[in-house]
Amino acid sequence: MKDDFRYDNINQIPRLIISDNEIIDANNSLCELTGYSKDELLSNSTEEIFIKFKINSTLQDILNINVTKSFYIFTKQSQAREIYINIIKEKSSNIQICLFIETEYPRVEQRFMYLHNMAERNHKGIAIFSMPDLVLLMASQKYIDNFIDVEQSRFELIGTKMSDIAPKWDLGKKFWDNRLKSKEDMFMNEAYINGKYMDAHFLPIIENGITKYYVITVTECTERVIYRKRLESQARVINDQKEELEAIIENMSDIFTVIDKHGNYIKMNAEARKLDPEILVGLLGKYSRNEIFYSEKGERLASEDLPANMLIEGKNVVNSRIVLKTNESEAVFEVKGTPVLDCQGRFRYGILNSHDISEYIRHLKIIEDHKKELEFIIENINEAIYIYKNKKEYLRNKLAREWFRGNGLGPCLFDMYNLYDANGNPVTEEKLLISDILNGLNLENKKYILENRDDKDKRKIIRVNGTSLMDKEENFDVSIISIRDVTEEERKEEMYRQHTERLLNLEIEKAHTLENVISMKEEFLATISHEFKTPLTVINAIIQTLETFYSNEMSGKVMDYLKKIRQNSFRQLRLVNNLVDITRVNTDKFKIHKRNLDIVFLTSIITESVQTFAQQKGVGLYFSSEIAKLVIGIDEEIYERILLNLLSNAIKFTPQGKSIYVDVEKKRHNVAIYVRDEGIGIPKDKQKLIFERFGQVDNSLSRQAEGSGIGLSLVSSLVTALGGRITLKSCMNKGSIFKVTLPNVLVNDIAEETGASSEIDKRLIQTTKIEFSHVYID
Ligand code: ADP
Repeated sequence: MKDDFRYDNINQIPRLIISDNEIIDANNSLCELTGYSKDELLSNSTEEIFIKFKINSTLQDILNINVTKSFYIFTKQSQAREIYINIIKEKSSNIQICLFIETEYPRVEQRFMYLHNMAERNHKGIAIFSMPDLVLLMASQKYIDNFIDVEQSRFELIGTKMSDIAPKWDLGKKFWDNRLKSKEDMFMNEAYINGKYMDAHFLPIIENGITKYYVITVTECTERVIYRKRLESQARVINDQKEELEAIIENMSDIFTVIDKHGNYIKMNAEARKLDPEILVGLLGKYSRNEIFYSEKGERLASEDLPANMLIEGKNVVNSRIVLKTNESEAVFEVKGTPVLDCQGRFRYGILNSHDISEYIRHLKIIEDHKKELEFIIENINEAIYIYKNKKEYLRNKLAREWFRGNGLGPCLFDMYNLYDANGNPVTEEKLLISDILNGLNLENKKYILENRDDKDKRKIIRVNGTSLMDKEENFDVSIISIRDVTEEERKEEMYRQHTERLLNLEIEKAHTLENVISMKEEFLATISHEFKTPLTVINAIIQTLETFYSNEMSGKVMDYLKKIRQNSFRQLRLVNNLVDITRVNTDKFKIHKRNLDIVFLTSIITESVQTFAQQKGVGLYFSSEIAKLVIGIDEEIYERILLNLLSNAIKFTPQGKSIYVDVEKKRHNVAIYVRDEGIGIPKDKQKLIFERFGQVDNSLSRQAEGSGIGLSLVSSLVTALGGRITLKSCMNKGSIFKVTLPNVLVNDIAEETGASSEIDKRLIQTTKIEFSHVYID
């Protein structure tokens, strides 16, 4: 509080009287100073009055400070007044008198008269802030409109702190501390605030060496900045594009050069640099060697026809082809060039773009040659050819012209010819397939007959092929129709067919005859065999009778002879039996009588029946079976023949001291009977042969074994007749294994029979004698 005021006329000093923090009186001077009426001031609290006057302090704070300090109060019209505040306290009561003493120049608008007037007319926003508390004392409307964040009127805003009304302009304590220290004005260009660019000027107003105010001038420069930035970015893009273009030019496969008005290169790309400088010079319009540049037609180019010279003359060079000929090589360049003229039409520089097209020209020539070759072939081929492009006739060859007298394949064909299909039916105009082929129908070797209308004896048999090729859009754009005269071919084919048919008929006739002969032969064989058999049976019966009833009357020698007779008649009988069977086995005269019999038992007794023969020869014979019994449908007589045959061979070809094993094994759907011997074995190349019919048995083999060679062939046929299979594994000097596989199937209707062993035995005695007659050992 300030004590050294002189209160000569205290009533003249604007003042408030406060009692218990309430305004109880205000004098006229205060009303004049603030523009408020008494009523507006009375009955307010001191806080309310301080807020009204926008005093940036409180009564208590003012009481506490003991230095002279001016404050700003703001009138009702928001005009700042600089004042000192003096508070006098009555000792006896709660009454306080608050004096508002105006400073020497209290009215800010008067103090900054010039600025005030200028600010209102200026396009810039101007504001004055008090320092250091940064309270807005004065502001132009422009400033309020453009640079204040809050939506309040100028009257409301004046007297408030910068941090409340424009927080983004309140650039921080540090900033303002520096401003206070430096005391120099400052420019802030293109500050980006609230989405706008601003140029700001901070001007300190210094009184008595203290910064009392800051005048802030702000201009929006958004448009300028955006425009400049746009220019900058455009410049960047242009620069990028320029670099890109230069990179493209540098790396393009074309030879790129720029020349000045003297014909000198001012720019060239990598391709150009690669080139022989003499060629470049040539393109420039200067010869380095004599007469090396020619036109495509082979004419020597005059100097003024060289591309660079044309450019310098201001002429465009349009796809000019230049042939470069040296002693060693020839190259073709395609050159394009554009002169760049200034606004007066004078040549500034020329752009030359060249490409070595020698390879392309070479390919073109090859294609051209191929085309010619192809055309030659098409022209001279032995077929009439029509080629259509986009459904229009494009080409026809010599034969096509000859046959159709220059006509196409449309209905005009009927002017010359009658057309028939392969069956001789007339082909009418509507049935002509030409338009279908042009629309993609593929015709393959379709036969037609062309009959000459003038001379019906002149007929051609033709074969037509038609194919269409599709373009990228899947339209049929090229069709080829070829017509071949096959009259002669057809004639020959027909002759050949007739000839073959005749031959075939002859063959059939021959086969018939052969069949008859064979059947006659077989008949003959059957009859003769039978005829052989009857006397043999009689001989055997007689021998039997002699041995049974007259053995006492015969000497030992006679008995020996008789035995030999019997032995040989058995051999004969075996052969005859085999012959009879082998001729019948494949005919329907051969009957099979299957009964349900135990194959294990059957095999064991058959094996047992030849035990004596084995013993006589000193060969071991063993039977074994992994199963005790297995009943299957079998013809036991046939099975006997099979097994006895295999056993007789085994005994015959097994040397003394070795053994034979007969095994029965049950398989999943069948039964296998093995006859294994340790005999001489059968060579590999003969193994198949021994099952062949006797007619094909190798004579040397059968001779060597002293047999007729039909036994195994018969066995094989008999096994097949029983629905089984026979196979052989054999190793020379080690032995052979014959495996007979028979179906494990019962026969219908007939109940299981074991087969009376006595009946089988009786038959076996006789059969084994016959079957073993060829291994009989005296
Ligand atoms: P054959 O009626 O003369 O006995 P096969 O058809 O039964 O004739 O036999 C043909 C030939 O096969 C015999 O002559 C013999 O050379 C050979 N052969 C057959 N079985 C055996 C065997 N177990 N061991 C060695 N050779 C055999």
